[in-house]
Amino acid sequence: MPDLPGTDGTEAVVRKELAIAVVSELNLILVGPPGAGKGTQAERLTQDFGLPYYATGNILREAVANGTELGRQAKEHMDAGGLVPDDVIIGVILEALKQDEAADGFLLDGFPRTVPQADALGEALQNAGRKISAVLLIDVPDEEVVRRLSGRRVSKAGRVYHVDFDPPKHEGRCDIDGSELIQRDDDKPETIRKRLSVYHEQTEPLVEYYESRDLLRRFDGTRTPTEVHDHVRATVATLRLEDEL
Ligand code: AMP
Repeated sequence: MPDLPGTDGTEAVVRKELAIAVVSELNLILVGPPGAGKGTQAERLTQDFGLPYYATGNILREAVANGTELGRQAKEHMDAGGLVPDDVIIGVILEALKQDEAADGFLLDGFPRTVPQADALGEALQNAGRKISAVLLIDVPDEEVVRRLSGRRVSKAGRVYHVDFDPPKHEGRCDIDGSELIQRDDDKPETIRKRLSVYHEQTEPLVEYYESRDLLRRFDGTRTPTEVHDHVRATVATLRLEDEL
């Protein structure tokens, strides 16, 4: 960084340190029940902060669609609304986080979903001299989850619509690529209830887990997507600022 006129060397060093801090890692996790709007918020946050995005649900659905070994191991659990075994999904995410693109930060959505997954992530990051910056909890009550998920439709590329709250311009077709919109098998009513009970039993303990580590930030997911986004973005921007100081 060049010296500005009228500054001495000390100031130049301080400014250089600040410039380094600005690019410090932003390692974020999104947590919340199914249908909380994590995917919608993730789309916006990755744009705001230029982070690579790893959504285990999307990774697994793609693996199923491509008929890979991972897809084969995951399919029956997903169709039933249960969780894929910890060792299977932990391996996938730890590999993803080793990629160069994730070196300066990442946004995880749908992982960790159990305490053993959170332990594995914490340990892997610690071994790499890294840490989680914050865990963003988007909270929505069960009845709202059911209302949202039963009307959810997705495009081939994963763009999400809702038959009442966010319909496409042409019924049943994606606005962006024109592909046919479908209802995910796991968005059918009985599966939604199963996924909610899995969330309460296996994932909700992470709220306390991360709260006790002073990493948890809560957001009211019943607000509009724009309100939630404004709140989350402001919180993440503040984290960055705190990191710089
Ligand atoms: P999602 O799109 O995040 O709701 O994930 C869809 C499904 O993928 C879940 O219902 C699980 O079967 C599976 N899945 C996604 N992430 C995980 C995870 N971290 N651990 C275990 N199973 C997962």
